Amino acid sequence: MTFSLAIVGRPNVGKSTLFNRLVGKRLALVDDQPGVTRDLREGAARLGDLRFTVIDTAGLEEATDESLQGRMRKLTERAVDMADICLFLIDARAGVTPMDEVLAEILRKRAKHVILAANKGEGSAADAGVLEAYGLGLGEPIRLSAEHGEGLNDLYAQLMPLSDAYEESAEEEAPEIDVDVGEEDVDSPRPITKAKPLQIAVVGRPNAGKSTLINQIMGEERLLTGPEAGITRDAISVQIDWEGVPMRIFDTAGMRKKAKIQEKLEKLSVSDGLRAVKFAEVVVILLDAAIPFEQQDLRIADLAEREGRAVVIAVNKWDIEDDKQDKLKMLREEFTRLLPQLRGAPLVTVSAKTGKGLDRLHAAIMKAHTVWNRRVTTAQLNRWLSGMLEQHPPPAPQGKRIKLRYMTQAKTRPPGFVVMCSHPDKMPESYSRYLVNSLREDFDMPGTPIRLYMRGQS
Ligand code: GDP
Ligand code: GDP
Repeated sequence: MTFSLAIVGRPNVGKSTLFNRLVGKRLALVDDQPGVTRDLREGAARLGDLRFTVIDTAGLEEATDESLQGRMRKLTERAVDMADICLFLIDARAGVTPMDEVLAEILRKRAKHVILAANKGEGSAADAGVLEAYGLGLGEPIRLSAEHGEGLNDLYAQLMPLSDAYEESAEEEAPEIDVDVGEEDVDSPRPITKAKPLQIAVVGRPNAGKSTLINQIMGEERLLTGPEAGITRDAISVQIDWEGVPMRIFDTAGMRKKAKIQEKLEKLSVSDGLRAVKFAEVVVILLDAAIPFEQQDLRIADLAEREGRAVVIAVNKWDIEDDKQDKLKMLREEFTRLLPQLRGAPLVTVSAKTGKGLDRLHAAIMKAHTVWNRRVTTAQLNRWLSGMLEQHPPPAPQGKRIKLRYMTQAKTRPPGFVVMCSHPDKMPESYSRYLVNSLREDFDMPGTPIRLYMRGQS
């Protein structure tokens, strides 16, 4: 598993310049999938021997009624929730501005790890701004020049120890870029980083049993570990070791209650689910067995897929079902029919009330999370691709056959693949879908969205 780094900062500080440098201009992978996160660019980055996903928050220039500050604030919050590490850029030539201070405040409160960098740091015109950056309360700033490629050694030195927490460095997959981290000794002291808990959201209609489920999970653990060990709870989440795995479970019922206190009632059922989905790595969609797959369930399931989260469907209140066999068959059929985009996602039955089935739920969450992080080697993919092409050649619109040349995995969480081909714009949706479904089958990737990007040769 690799980590993700979000580049945040006000407009014009150099975010896109840095993004392009990290991703390499030859394969700047722009996520053009329609969806909720269209305004965030993601790419596979490499810095020295580090491989990671970089997220650029620039480019949100759509006209909206909101103030720039409001938009910046939202976008920054979103980036923080999505990414493991935030790289906060200021413009050293301009010095610290009021908007920088607003964003720094969000980051201080909300981000897991923040690295501060004063960009446009080449030359003495930047000296004052670099000093000012200390005042943001985010530690020592890195002096960076995205344009001239200076300061990347220091960025590497700060990222390297953090990346250890995300273990398993990826193989040779990320596109090559020329970042010279030099021969210097970059062995800086390693900060202590806790294992990041797995982020789970439990979403579903009111009364599906979300609170009961979370209490049941906590209760079980409390029996095993004693009343105080390993459990902390705030209004919106519980942190717990569930069967030895650290997890943070976002409780949308809790969010609703908290929001009510604050009298922010607008569009609650949707917006609290939405927020939870953004926090989560795995989304557990909790259905009431008596009224499964209601509109609201379908909407949130679709959202989870578009946001690229791993998904587990849990059917609750199984204790009061009489004809369990028939019911399960019916549920599976409805699932396939109503949520084709989540094909292969695990469906488990549980009783939040009695605790039955929670072991299966735990196993399904772990599996979905593993698959979401899966990385397939380029060699395996290309062997697979040539087999696919033989079995079912791509179409030939207007008599010209589309050639699929080469394939590689560009990202994980969720898995994303790039296929280099001729006429990417002519590739019919049905063929892409065929490739995605076959990838899912052949590499055993149930329960995760899979992204496929067609790219022309550059
Ligand atoms: P963004 O809005 O934060 O994505 O900023 P851009 O990457 O678009 O950069 C804004 C401007 O700053 C552009 O004109 C860049 O060429 C310039 N810029 C970016 N990095 C540097 C740098 O390190 N030094 C200098 N002098 N200019 C830079
Ligand atoms: P939430 O709004 O999704 O948090 O739902 P609650 O946890 O408040 O549960 C709503 C109702 O369903 C309560 O009356 C629960 O006792 C009941 N309930 C929850 N889980 C189960 C279950 O597994 N079996 C049965 N029979 N009832 C359940």
